[in-house]
Amino acid sequence: MNHDPIRPPEGPRCIYVLEDDPAICRLVAGTLVEFGFEAVECPNAAALRRQLLLRVPDLCIVDLGLPDADGMDVVRDLQARLGCGVLILTGRGYVSDRVMGLELGADDYMVKPFEPRELVARVRSILRRHEKMQGAHQDTPAQTAEFGGWRFHGQSNTLHAPDGQEWTLSAGEARMLTQFLLRPNRILDREQLCGDRDLSPLDRGVDVRISRLRRKLESDPQNPKTIRTVYGAGYLFAGEVRWT
Ligand code: CA
Repeated sequence: MNHDPIRPPEGPRCIYVLEDDPAICRLVAGTLVEFGFEAVECPNAAALRRQLLLRVPDLCIVDLGLPDADGMDVVRDLQARLGCGVLILTGRGYVSDRVMGLELGADDYMVKPFEPRELVARVRSILRRHEKMQGAHQDTPAQTAEFGGWRFHGQSNTLHAPDGQEWTLSAGEARMLTQFLLRPNRILDREQLCGDRDLSPLDRGVDVRISRLRRKLESDPQNPKTIRTVYGAGYLFAGEVRWT
């Protein structure tokens, strides 16, 4: 299925709010509208699915505790199929939920109760990051990177190992790997790896993505040779990269 987002370049950014508590849903949507966004309220996962058939939003705000679905499944689906921004907004503040949400590709995670202005700031940060990445992809004619017998296809997010093994990376992992492969053998700080100039609230997300990439690329992920940690500075991708 092909879901290219259709939106006028100058139009307001469209955000779907998946939240089963009507008061919170109204509060979130109302805050977004107040700050110039278009917001669509979805009281359950079925309503979200119906809206997604009409239009792919720029970002979805997803509550994890839903009457008709596990919010984690929704996050996974949004990331894998649509690649739109995802902000988890939930009453569940467990570290394991946070890590799992970010592993599944959510861009950020907020725990209720929330401060409306902070929500808006995080939404803006995610949208900026996504737009920058889209711009970066358009500036890059190269499609496939080869390094040390590996191949990464930027369009399909697939990674092929020298032994023939193949993975489909999450959108977040693919963005991070692309940053590494565009600038090999250079130290990249965490902000560069997120593709965002602003200080990211996603520090934990950076670690999660790094470790997921290492598990695929490194023969010994505990002792990485390819994605190296440069203490106090960032990370460095060691190796020759050829884009074709
Ligand atoms: Ca709920």
